[in-house]
Amino acid sequence: MNFHVLTLFPEMVLDGLNTSIIGRAVSKNYITLDAVQIRDYTLDKHNKVDDYTYGGGAGMLMQAQPVYDSCEAVQKKIEEAGRKRARVIYVTPGGYTFNQSMALDFSKEEDLIFLCGHYEGIDERVLEEVVTDYVSIGDYVLTGGELPAMVMIDCISRLVPGVLSNSESSVTESFSDGLLEYPQYSRPEEWHGKKVPEILLSGHHANVEKWRLEQSIIKTKKIRPDLYEKYILDHPVEEKKKRRKQKSCNS
Ligand code: SAM
Repeated sequence: MNFHVLTLFPEMVLDGLNTSIIGRAVSKNYITLDAVQIRDYTLDKHNKVDDYTYGGGAGMLMQAQPVYDSCEAVQKKIEEAGRKRARVIYVTPGGYTFNQSMALDFSKEEDLIFLCGHYEGIDERVLEEVVTDYVSIGDYVLTGGELPAMVMIDCISRLVPGVLSNSESSVTESFSDGLLEYPQYSRPEEWHGKKVPEILLSGHHANVEKWRLEQSIIKTKKIRPDLYEKYILDHPVEEKKKRRKQKSCNS
């Protein structure tokens, strides 16, 4: 998987992703990470990449020309390497909210281009020409697209084969089955008077799995009722079993 980030702050992206698991994935070539300076492509003699917005309003807007030329330069490089033109993700608060299934979909691509806005954002005309996906990381506004792009790259990378070792597997994590993850414990068996749940020390694999699923369901229902409702619709049998169990406990 090859990530290309169009940005005014390439060092922020490279420094931010060059550590821990993602840094290791880059050094082992499971992923490549290329941060492209949009400013290098401006035709303005003062090296400007932004200007006032038509119609008034506070702040500056990134101009179409350098964004278009930097994006096309990356697409050309990808095509010259014999690969198909990449999807271009504009990270923006005005996009669809990023989630795990989107990450899974993106992880199947060979190349992805992330376009990071700054200031008030980017001229609409170039967005119409180059962007394939509009994605937000949540209902709040940041100063630039670099952090959102890094968040998405981190999440997508974890789904690329080889990036996580077996012990770091993403299969049982939150959202992988539509539920939040169950609580987990490590040594010692007792800490601050709190004991690890007995069942986890039993060595009975099937019972442990059952307990974990129950805990996941309880936690999801409490913290994310929206996810719980969806889970119940997708797993009507689970819910029936739970109701039966509750009934027999009450009687
Ligand atoms: N004027 C824009 C608006 O109201 O939607 C906000 C611009 S923001 C200050 C500058 C840049 O940060 C955006 O172009 C976008 O790339 C990035 N950004 C800010 N918040 C974001 C979010 N929640 N998700 C994704 N990108 C975001």
